[in-house]
Amino acid sequence: MKLSYYCASTSCGKINYIRVASDNRYDLKQEIGEEFNERCKHCGKHTKKHINRLHGEMNNAVILITLIITLILTVILWNLGVLFGAVTFGIPAFVWIHQKKRATDFNKLMID
Ligand SMILES: [Zn+2]
Repeated sequence: MKLSYYCASTSCGKINYIRVASDNRYDLKQEIGEEFNERCKHCGKHTKKHINRLHGEMNNAVILITLIITLILTVILWNLGVLFGAVTFGIPAFVWIHQKKRATDFNKLMID
């Protein structure tokens, strides 16, 4: 899961991203603890925050890769004389929905 948080420094306040293996905050607590302490990629200052303050994001790279693969598949199928609408539109749509749901589910669930 790709997570975002804002830098605690008032002079910076830029968005940062971290990558974790967990899909929800309960797993995340096991993975990194109840608080995280990360260095801002923009100003270098450390931000200490409760993991409830982390925001789940869609992984745009996954969607982009899927689109590229689908495009290649479409060209192959086109050359073979078969073009499936389900392949050209279904796969990216499915991946997008899946990514969106993962992020939404993560953001809905807070730990005590
Ligand atoms: Zn910063």
